[in-house]
Amino acid sequence: MAAPVVLVTGASGYIGACVVKTLLEAGHKVRGTVRSLKDPAKVQPLYDLCPDAKHKLELVEADLTDENSWVEAVRGCTYVQHVASPFPSGTPKTEEEVIRPAVEGTLGVLRAATQVGGVKRIVLTSSCISISLCGGNKKPFTEKDWTDLSHKYATAYAKSKHLAEKAAWDYLKELPHGEKFELAVVNPAFVLGPPAAKSSGTSISTIQAIMMKAMPGLPHFYLNVCDVRDVATAHVECMNNPDAVGNRHIVYTGYIQLPAMGQILQKEFKSQGYDPLTKAVPNIATKILSWFNAETASRYVTLKDPMPFDNSRLRNVLKIEPIPIEKSLTDMVYKLVELGMLPKTPQYRGPSN
Ligand code: NDP
Repeated sequence: MAAPVVLVTGASGYIGACVVKTLLEAGHKVRGTVRSLKDPAKVQPLYDLCPDAKHKLELVEADLTDENSWVEAVRGCTYVQHVASPFPSGTPKTEEEVIRPAVEGTLGVLRAATQVGGVKRIVLTSSCISISLCGGNKKPFTEKDWTDLSHKYATAYAKSKHLAEKAAWDYLKELPHGEKFELAVVNPAFVLGPPAAKSSGTSISTIQAIMMKAMPGLPHFYLNVCDVRDVATAHVECMNNPDAVGNRHIVYTGYIQLPAMGQILQKEFKSQGYDPLTKAVPNIATKILSWFNAETASRYVTLKDPMPFDNSRLRNVLKIEPIPIEKSLTDMVYKLVELGMLPKTPQYRGPSN
């Protein structure tokens, strides 16, 4: 019998490439989507992800803004890992440029699955930002919670993730019985950890900025974080585990303030010729800046308090014990150096084990 094919959308992204690598290493037959096959710098590292893979990676083109492109991409697949979505690092010109591809793209993938038939389960990458936007809660947030989109500082990105996930659950609910597929959702916190291949994106640029001192100081914002390897394993578990069906899964290690991240990196990398940013911006300065800068204001209001999430489903259902934050951060920086995404200093020793 032919091996079932797993489609991974957004294979070129930070999370997408790690999902592809994890699937290939587990012996799955994988088809990944990229927006263009013409860019060898994006495509070749994906082919190189797992040289000993049982099945060679197949790559096809598809775009979230072109619904027709998904029909051929999904055809013949038994599982779909829908990871692709815009993840802007700053404020987009219009909310629609983020929300539309996220929501319409997700529906495009789901409609294609219905049209071609044969898809057993879809795993959707949502986010903790679909669950909550603000800290200050006494109890950890759970998979039952949904972000309040009427909040003044609900960003275009938060709306895009919440609305895309809601659209997927609603679409499935409305499907006639015989046409239904299974759906499981992964809700990662801010992702750290080593990229599987060279990629850009908000997670990576944040750590590059701390390592290269690309800003004057770090505000005391809390970041809720997880490791990209746990996120990828969660995607694979959500595809295989019967208890994942119909559920959301928070992937969350813990929270950490930005200056504390700088301090972890100082401890590991100072003796290797790096000088990561640890300087904290006083809260009052961040507050004053937030009066003039909408981006800072939204972060100040939403991230000034810790925002714990409940990761019981991750541990108890998916059986994933989160990788500690220190390891996520240091492994990430070593990999960024190896991939040429951070400079290699003369004192660089590399990871100790
Ligand atoms: P990246 O920016 O690295 O990856 C985004 C991926 O989506 C890329 O492969 C990109 O393709 C693809 N994509 C974007 N727009 C389109 C489009 N119009 N058509 C087709 N593909 C498109 O981000 P991440 O890997 O970090 O994010 C992946 C997913 O994980 C997203 O859904 C994001 O919301 C979610 N997530 C990320 C978190 C994080 O901290 N990183 C936290 C929680 C959720 P291309 O390479 O061509 O640009």
